[in-house]
Amino acid sequence: MDLRYSKSDEEFRAELRAWLEVEVPKHGTEPEQNDWESRLEYDTSWQRKLFEAGFAGINWPVEYGGRDASLSEQLIYYEEYARSKAPYVGVNFVGLLHGGPTLMAEGTEAQKEKHIPRIIRGEEIWCQGFSEPTAGSDLASLRTRAERDGDEYVINGHKIWTSFAQVSDYCELLARTDPDTKKHAGISWLILPMDVPGIEIRPLPTLKGELDFSEVFFEDVRIPVDSLVGKENDGWRVTNVTLRFERGTAFASEMYKLQEILARLKKTLQATTRWEATAWDDAALRREVGHLQAELDSLWAMLKLAISETSKTGMPGLGASAMKLYYTDLAQRVTQLCVGAIGRAALSRSPLEGLPDADFLGADLQPLSLSIAGGSSQIQRNIIAERILGHPKER
Ligand SMILES: Cc1cc2nc3c(=O)[nH]c(=O)nc-3n(C[C@H](O)[C@H](O)[C@H](O)COP(=O)(O)OP(=O)(O)OC[C@H]3O[C@@H](n4cnc5c(N)ncnc54)[C@H](O)[C@@H]3O)c2cc1C
Repeated sequence: MDLRYSKSDEEFRAELRAWLEVEVPKHGTEPEQNDWESRLEYDTSWQRKLFEAGFAGINWPVEYGGRDASLSEQLIYYEEYARSKAPYVGVNFVGLLHGGPTLMAEGTEAQKEKHIPRIIRGEEIWCQGFSEPTAGSDLASLRTRAERDGDEYVINGHKIWTSFAQVSDYCELLARTDPDTKKHAGISWLILPMDVPGIEIRPLPTLKGELDFSEVFFEDVRIPVDSLVGKENDGWRVTNVTLRFERGTAFASEMYKLQEILARLKKTLQATTRWEATAWDDAALRREVGHLQAELDSLWAMLKLAISETSKTGMPGLGASAMKLYYTDLAQRVTQLCVGAIGRAALSRSPLEGLPDADFLGADLQPLSLSIAGGSSQIQRNIIAERILGHPKER
């Protein structure tokens, strides 16, 4: 098998690179973290530009507005996207990277037709209503109820850590539709419009003062039964589809971004002088950078496998957990090396007394949350042990 990019792949790369080189600088700088109106406009208008240029929904069918790109074009897309420092997917994260993909894999034709084109055009924002105060790692013990009343479900309960709830149009909601059966068997995956009566959103400030998370309360919220994705009480299976996308391919461009961070570190070390030498003259440090670069190449190979599996089967395989665990660990080691190598300059967001301006601290803090988001690292280890390696199940 020839693993090199073909002539038409390279033409696609050139076309995308040329477009990004013009459009990325024109899109301006990212708004303040808590300026939600501007963030919404910034993220959705960028998504719209991608759509109009034919670069949105890269692996989704053309009939829903996607590009239906080949496997190699998808990889090129992630590489070029990260290289160009194009805007982060932002508030479109859930819709584009795991809610929409779940609808593509499990939704009815009507659900796909209604939501996928709008998600691709940046017209529909989604959030994830999975976690509850007593259901995080043990997600199947969730208590939010959806009781059937004629043609409707009536929802009561409480979600937590819901990212982007305040700007979302829809929520991928997990609710208990049968409280009298085993906990994994009584759950359903529902499409919840966020503008129906009975929903209260209370933002949860983080230590940095950011308001990305919210608690969401439901009191007698009514939605039609055709909001169901998959069958009633079959939501745990559908949830696992969502989680495989969330763990498997959702972080593709960020994975590539780590290569950029490491390249930036190299340049920074070359510019950091210590007496007669530069920091880059330190052989031990160079070795560490080299090892991490090799590991990033391995991670990229794992991603290629996940994308290839998705192209063949419609979703990433169980190895998604291994990839998420490896990415989390590697992201933390790369950014810790950055902070350790340049010392106090890493704390600065602007040039500091002649030391290089790197803003590695922001890059360092973000990967810490990866150990928890989308299922903690311990849970990924349990999945790998039990479901991939076949070790005995924990009690
Ligand atoms: C940045 C970020 C964004 C998020 N966005 C969303 C969102 O949009 N929607 C949403 O629904 N949720 C979201 N979450 C929540 C996330 O899914 C949960 O935090 C996560 O699943 C862990 O659940 P928990 O916080 O309840 O921790 P717990 O489940 O209470 O776990 C606490 C600790 O115990 C460990 N632990 C628990 N059980 C086991 C076990 N069986 N074996 C070994 N160790 C175990 C865990 O690994 C962890 O270290 C987000 C979280 C983060 C950090």
